[in-house]
Amino acid sequence: MQDIHIPTLIIGAGLTGLSCALHLQQDYLMVEKEQEPGGIVRTRTKPGGFHCDGTGHWLHLRNPYTKELVHRALGDNIVEYTRKASIHSKGVFTLFPFQANLDGLPREVILECLTGLWKARHPEDFGMSQPDGPPTSFEECILRLFGTGIASHFMTPYNEKLLGVPLSEVSPRYAERFVPKPSIEDILNGAFGQSKESLGYNASFIYPRVGGIGALPKALETLLEVKPHYGLKLEAINLAAKTATLSNGSLVRYDHLVNTMPLVDFLKLCTDLPEIVTENAAKLRSSTVHYFDVGVRGPGAEGSESHWVYFPEPEFVFYRVGSYSAVHKELAPAGCRSYYVEISGGYDAFRDRPDDLRKRVREDLIRGRILSENDEILMMDLCTIPHAYVVFDSHYEASRASVLDGLQPFSVTSCGRWGGWNYGGMEDAMLEGIQAAKQINNA
Ligand SMILES: Cc1cc2nc3c(=O)[nH]c(=O)nc-3n(C[C@H](O)[C@H](O)[C@H](O)COP(=O)(O)OP(=O)(O)OC[C@H]3O[C@@H](n4cnc5c(N)ncnc54)[C@H](O)[C@@H]3O)c2cc1C
Repeated sequence: MQDIHIPTLIIGAGLTGLSCALHLQQDYLMVEKEQEPGGIVRTRTKPGGFHCDGTGHWLHLRNPYTKELVHRALGDNIVEYTRKASIHSKGVFTLFPFQANLDGLPREVILECLTGLWKARHPEDFGMSQPDGPPTSFEECILRLFGTGIASHFMTPYNEKLLGVPLSEVSPRYAERFVPKPSIEDILNGAFGQSKESLGYNASFIYPRVGGIGALPKALETLLEVKPHYGLKLEAINLAAKTATLSNGSLVRYDHLVNTMPLVDFLKLCTDLPEIVTENAAKLRSSTVHYFDVGVRGPGAEGSESHWVYFPEPEFVFYRVGSYSAVHKELAPAGCRSYYVEISGGYDAFRDRPDDLRKRVREDLIRGRILSENDEILMMDLCTIPHAYVVFDSHYEASRASVLDGLQPFSVTSCGRWGGWNYGGMEDAMLEGIQAAKQINNA
């Protein structure tokens, strides 16, 4: 590629970049450092013939347009599933979400959860007053919504394991989208075995019949007239001059730039960043997730057929174990099963001891009744997602807004889960790509 001028340069061919390209009404150049589209939304075949996504990637669609887009791209390569998610706590499995499915837990735990709920909703019955003002942290939000029992048995330990930070540091906004908020009636029904399984944003989902979740970005790519350039990396940006240097040495002059690579990494490549942007970028935090793809042959145990299982208790090193093959059996060879075992903060103690971590994960999978003693592990592959979950701390919203706004005068739109430094799913990624395209089309 020679030095060129292009109206729009798109960094990254994940779902955000692909959907942006698809909706742009002007010429673009899309560069992707990998050899195929999808970013984390790719499916790799591991030793033994296990097809693994970048941990579970199940597609929940709410927006009519993205539904149409995904159906246009995948055609009949779609299967719909109903969630089978559970929680392992106090040695038993209960259904997800915890707060609406207390049945099965020890009686004293159920009592503690229900009493805590009552106290939280009606503090005056216990001689306490209603708290003043809105909650100031996620921890406070959980306590006000569900009380101390549900908080201490699930909400707090699970979310602290996932995010790797105390919930007192997390903004209450975090609860808005991702915490199912059943009514008191649903919680009481769930405590007496009459649960509604459809609570929460991910009660059903779709998945490609063939090709794993990686089939989705590949299908979107086929809709593009101008394909991404693979194996080509953004190396530097001169914001003032609106030029980008790529790994093949070419210099690209652009009118608009759409970034979808992780925002903090993108900013490190930029010259001429305003000081306020640099200062606020330093406050953006994320958690790193390490996960094992595991391929197994054997009889399995009680929890092996759940689509995914949450493990809130600290004695388990992982916070969640999902099964690719329990959802879509074609992802594992005949007679085998496959899992993704997700670890966040718990990884640090094993940083330099990967063999000990493998041993611990196997032991915990057996203790957690996902694997049986007789299961033969055929494959166990450790992978890392450097920026997995954005930490919604007290700096988050103002810092993020300052950074994204600070890039606008340079005609840079940074969007998507990591480009926009947000907690979004695959549908959000596609919507953000479309939004970026519309903004440029209308400029
Ligand atoms: C653990 C986990 C589980 C998830 N599960 C689900 C789920 O079940 N359902 C759901 O809907 N969503 C899920 N998500 C969210 C989903 O993965 C994201 O919303 C989506 O993949 C974001 O796409 P993107 O295009 O914004 O980012 P990316 O996919 O990261 O795209 C960015 C692209 O930029 C490329 N790139 C990076 N640096 C450069 C460079 N210097 N030059 C050129 N290219 C570069 C990357 O290779 C990548 O292809 C999950 C996320 C995580 C972390």
